[in-house]
Amino acid sequence: MSIDNSIPYKIYLTEDEMPAAWYNVRADMKVKPAPLLNPGTGAPMTFEELRGVFCDELVRQELDNDTAFIPIPQAIRDFYKMYRPSPLVRAYCLEEKLDTPAKIYYKFEGNNTSGSHKLNSAIAQAYYAKQQGLRGVTTETGAGQWGTALSMACSYLGLDCKVYMVKVSYEQKPFRREVMRTYGASVTPSPSETTNIGRAILKEHPGTTGSLGCAISEAVEAAVSNPGYRYVLGSVLNQVLLHQSVIGLETKAALDKYGIKPDVIIGCAGGGSNLGGLISPFMGEKLRGEADYRIIAVEPASCPSFTRGKFAYDFCDTGKVCPLAKMYTLGSGFIPSANHAGGLRYHGMSSILSQLYHDGYLEAVSVEQTKVFEAAEYFARVEGILPAPESSHAIRAAIDEALKCRETGKEETIVFGLTGTGYFDMVAYEKFHNGEMSDYIPTDEDLARSLASLPQIPGQD
Ligand SMILES: *Cc1c(COP(=O)(O)O)cnc(C)c1O
Repeated sequence: MSIDNSIPYKIYLTEDEMPAAWYNVRADMKVKPAPLLNPGTGAPMTFEELRGVFCDELVRQELDNDTAFIPIPQAIRDFYKMYRPSPLVRAYCLEEKLDTPAKIYYKFEGNNTSGSHKLNSAIAQAYYAKQQGLRGVTTETGAGQWGTALSMACSYLGLDCKVYMVKVSYEQKPFRREVMRTYGASVTPSPSETTNIGRAILKEHPGTTGSLGCAISEAVEAAVSNPGYRYVLGSVLNQVLLHQSVIGLETKAALDKYGIKPDVIIGCAGGGSNLGGLISPFMGEKLRGEADYRIIAVEPASCPSFTRGKFAYDFCDTGKVCPLAKMYTLGSGFIPSANHAGGLRYHGMSSILSQLYHDGYLEAVSVEQTKVFEAAEYFARVEGILPAPESSHAIRAAIDEALKCRETGKEETIVFGLTGTGYFDMVAYEKFHNGEMSDYIPTDEDLARSLASLPQIPGQD
């Protein structure tokens, strides 16, 4: 491997160089993301309506389309120091192995026990809940990273944490569940008999292994029916993208230190929080006309919200208890095929990213899971880190871009988000190694069926 002496293998910031404020990209968007709507009246959700479900300060952040910089409270900055700043790594080994003239960097968010970027928002959300004097929070978790991150944050601050975990993951990922319990959370497989909506779903679909949409409905019900509790969500919402801007701000500060300007920025997209956070300061420059970047969202071909979904108001959950959000969606009843192992399985996408995509500020590609695991294994062998399947979508796209540079000879600078590690995903890796993994791509008929359930909103065709 040959290291360019002018740029270190890992670019670290000092603690003093960490961002003191989150950046709210909505402030620079000419067309703001569409507001959440009350499913009953069709009117935009008000502060008063939302505060029954979410913490007050988080509702303020959710509704704030104008403040560009929101100071990060000192207690959160101090917590961030336990595992941040995260390194920006120059993938020298990967470049050499690919024999590409491209320069590849990745921002690694897996250096904490939750194994992902989700802790960045979990600590913020738990902090505001604590500040409001609440007893605890409820949430859903799919693969388990968000539940783990929230459990860590709650235990640090002395809050109770109730997690509804998608049943199939609860059964297949017992270790994730035990990590959450190590941090004192109570973990209930969803759908469960503990909520009205859970009982209704079980009655209608006996034996169902659950979905994120079901677990969200249960967690919301648990929050509104337990005094002193609020519901928190680990992705999709504007407030989550705001907190995750810490990823992009650190990335930009690290690149600026060495005068590096990226050409392409790549992130995997489930609900859009890591991608939204990673790109935020770059997107801000793009929106203000100060710089231009290619920005690529990478999603699974089995759950292709951007590339094959519809930009429309939709329900955020299966039980239809949440507000409606305007987003690229596959329909709230969409459940990816059972053989899909790579995460990123939510039916919708952040309203902010959806609007930016609609307005042409970002591109999207979808990738098949066997190709994703090929990239994951390649990356593990070359760069040493065992990546999460979710993150490996971004690795796949970054490798593909670097290979294009090998063809064209272009010396592009590629930055991608490496959101986490895959130690709890070894069942999926095992399937891949045994040749038992297949690719499932929903048919147009499958998508038409789930999109048929979109709510009727005046002005939406
Ligand atoms: C949750 C998660 C994602 C996807 O969520 P986004 O909100 O789209 O960022 C990606 N990678 C890892 C490791 C995750 O835990």
